[in-house]
Amino acid sequence: MHAMLLTELGSLSAIPDPLHPAELPVPTPAADELLLRVAVCGVCHTELDEIEGRTPPHHLPVIPGHQVVGRVAACGAKVKGWKLGERAGAAWIHHACETCSYCKEGRENLCYTFTATGRDRNGGYAEYMTIPADYSFRIPEALSDAEAAPLLCAGAVGRRALTLTAIRDGQRLGLAGFGTSAHLVLQMSRHLYPHSPVYVFTRSAESQAFARKLGAAWAGSYSHIPPAAVDAFIDTTPAWRPVVTALELLAPGGRLVINARSKEDADKEALFELDYQVHLWREKSLLSVANVTRADVRACMELAVEAGIRPTVREYPLAEANQALQTLHAGGLTGALVLRVG
Ligand SMILES: [Zn+2]
Ligand SMILES: [Zn+2]
Repeated sequence: MHAMLLTELGSLSAIPDPLHPAELPVPTPAADELLLRVAVCGVCHTELDEIEGRTPPHHLPVIPGHQVVGRVAACGAKVKGWKLGERAGAAWIHHACETCSYCKEGRENLCYTFTATGRDRNGGYAEYMTIPADYSFRIPEALSDAEAAPLLCAGAVGRRALTLTAIRDGQRLGLAGFGTSAHLVLQMSRHLYPHSPVYVFTRSAESQAFARKLGAAWAGSYSHIPPAAVDAFIDTTPAWRPVVTALELLAPGGRLVINARSKEDADKEALFELDYQVHLWREKSLLSVANVTRADVRACMELAVEAGIRPTVREYPLAEANQALQTLHAGGLTGALVLRVG
C-alpha cells in the first residue's frame, strides 16, 4: 500500500518535506480490530506538533493522521457489529485503559495510558490502517467522507471546548484563532446558543471575512477592541499573546478554554505581562481541553447532522501531504484540509 511516513522529527521551516512516500504491506487486523480501506484523512495541527516534537510519536517511523474515514475491508475474529464495506471512522483516541478512575467516570480523554491514532499507532496517511473496533465510529449517511473527516478531531475537540466554557445562551463567545476547529465551533455555537454573539480574533483579513460569512457578529485582529467584554473564550492558537489578550477581555466569572495540543515558545514573554487584577481577578478562570472521548466524537457527528454543520474543505491527494502540512503551517487557512486517499 502507499503510505506517507514520518521517519524523523524536525522543524517544518527547516524540512519542507517531513513525510516520505513508502510502499508497505497492508496491515493485518488483530482479533479485536477492523482493517479500514482509507478514503480520506483530515490534516490536523497536531500533526505539526508531532513532526516538530512537541508531542512526539512513541516510535518512528509512524504513519500520521487521526481524522480518517474509510470502509471496512476486514474484521478481526472477535469483532461483532461491523460489516465489510461499511463506512467507519478513526479519531485521535485509539485506546484507553477502561479501568482507571478517569475511564470509569467517562473521562477517558485523561487516561494515563491514552494512546493516540497517528502518533502512538499508525494512522490514516495511507491506503489501509487498523483500529480497535471499540474505538471506531459510524459515519452518518448525511455526511460525505470529506465532510465527516474534520469532525472526527477538529469538530469533536471543538465541541468539547465549547462545552467546557459553560456558556449559556445569550452570553458572548470569543474565538481566538480561526482555524479548522474554530470554524466548526462557530457553526455549533450559532445553533446551540442562537442569542450568543460570536467575536472572532484572527490576524488574517481573509479569515475575518470568512468568520463574518459564517455568522460572527464581529471579527478583528488582536489589537482591535470588540464591542463588549466576552463571557466565554476559546483559544486555538499556538501562541501565548492571544491568551493574555483573551484574559484581559474576559468578563467577570468568564472562562477561557485553551484548545491547543501545545504552545510554541516563541512569544512566551507575553506571559510576563500577566497582571492578577487585570487578567484573573473577579473569578476569571483558565483551563485547557485535552484529547477527546468516544462520546465527544459521536456527539459531534450527531450535532453536525442535526444542525446542518459542514466544514469548508480543501482537498489534496495523499502524495501531496507535505504541501498540505506546509499550507497549515503557513497559517491563515479558511476551513479544513483533507487528504484524498482512495
Ligand atoms: Zn487532531
Ligand atoms: Zn484509563
